Amino acid sequence: MKYSLLFPKTLKKAPSGAESINQQLLVRAGFIHQEMAGVYTYLPLGWRVLDKISDIVREEMDKIGGQEMLMPVLHPKANWAKTGRLKSFDVLYKLEDVVLGPSHEEIIYPLLSEYVKSYKDLPLCLYQIQMKFRNEPRAKAGLLRGREFLMKDLYSFHVSDEDRDAYYEKVRAVYIKIFKKIGLDVLKTKAGGGTFSDLSEEFQVMTPSGEDTIFVCEKCSSVINKELVQDKKCLECGGGLQEKRAIEVGNIFPLKRSYAEVFNLYFTDKNGEKKIVSAGCYGLGISRCMGAIVEVFHDGQGIIWPESVAPFQIHLVGLDLEDKKVMDEAEKIYKLLQVEDPERSRRTEGIEVLYDDRSDVSAGVKFADADLIGIPFRVVVSKKTQDKLEVKKRSEKETKFVSLKELIKMIELSD
Ligand code: ATP
Ligand code: MG
Repeated sequence: MKYSLLFPKTLKKAPSGAESINQQLLVRAGFIHQEMAGVYTYLPLGWRVLDKISDIVREEMDKIGGQEMLMPVLHPKANWAKTGRLKSFDVLYKLEDVVLGPSHEEIIYPLLSEYVKSYKDLPLCLYQIQMKFRNEPRAKAGLLRGREFLMKDLYSFHVSDEDRDAYYEKVRAVYIKIFKKIGLDVLKTKAGGGTFSDLSEEFQVMTPSGEDTIFVCEKCSSVINKELVQDKKCLECGGGLQEKRAIEVGNIFPLKRSYAEVFNLYFTDKNGEKKIVSAGCYGLGISRCMGAIVEVFHDGQGIIWPESVAPFQIHLVGLDLEDKKVMDEAEKIYKLLQVEDPERSRRTEGIEVLYDDRSDVSAGVKFADADLIGIPFRVVVSKKTQDKLEVKKRSEKETKFVSLKELIKMIELSD
């Protein structure tokens, strides 16, 4: 992508009212645009990041038997009346005869009750990646708390609680893997309430800007949610607890039997007996993860994207472009990096490049923009570089002069 063509360009200053780091940096760098509190447009750069996170999530969901589908945003109000959540779900958007989906139990249960009849129809693991709607009163933390936000929600249905619990363990392991892949270190906490099961966990990213309070044991490093803390003592070992701030990026829990009762989700087992379906729900905040990544990975100059979710792998900066020789060289490198060459590893085949080809701005402006946007490798072609490339990792200070081949090797080996 040529930067001269990219919509939109960076902003010098964050708009007034942007309080959180993720909002300030994402807006300034041209990833998102705020329409109103908690509602954003994902601009081309931002959409690429969301897509990368979604793809990583998809790949892992598919590996544990998840089947992707897409349920509607508009839900029949009657379904929400049936579960009682029309009244109890405090952030629900209600219209005349529909509600805007904040979660999809009220759709998926009646849906499955039409198809699931026998034990042979189970287990079923269905998921979607979709915009959710919640009328959050405090939508001020950029992508961390949207009123419209992208979530992956997986629902699993089983012949017994044992089977569901075994699947739950698989999801837990996969969640840890997903967060690691997108660069986030997560802590697991027993979710607040914990009313109907031991199996109910939140995945938290510890960072000062988090809205959640968690407690970490000084002795055994157990992590406990605010709701479960008594006398500031660890539930596992009695050690002292330290209060920390964190962002909840995921939440997994078994679903109450009452949903199956209300929507008549039963099956006939091997012996011909009628049984109730056991289910679990596994949420992961895709857009919140994007915000959390920025909260964790930034410096005074801008964002520092982990390679797995960066909108592009290389930010190619062309300097002295009035010199035709340099211009030709920069164009050549831009093309060569993007070549789909099966000789290269999967990672370096057809590298994604953002090429700053502008001829009307200074080197200083181009470098500042590269730092703000935060692509993992900055590669300069200029009069000075001749037949080499000047490479700098966004996360490091030093620059190196390398050949194209060496650059490709660097990308292959980096993490
Ligand atoms: P919170 O306690 O932060 O309001 P929640 O517990 O109500 O969140 P869940 O219903 O568990 O959220 O939703 C699953 C996941 O969706 C959360 O773990 C979080 O990552 C994400 N999420 C929830 N609400 C929002 C929001 N308003 N904006 C962005 N992401 C959200
Ligand atoms: Mg939650």
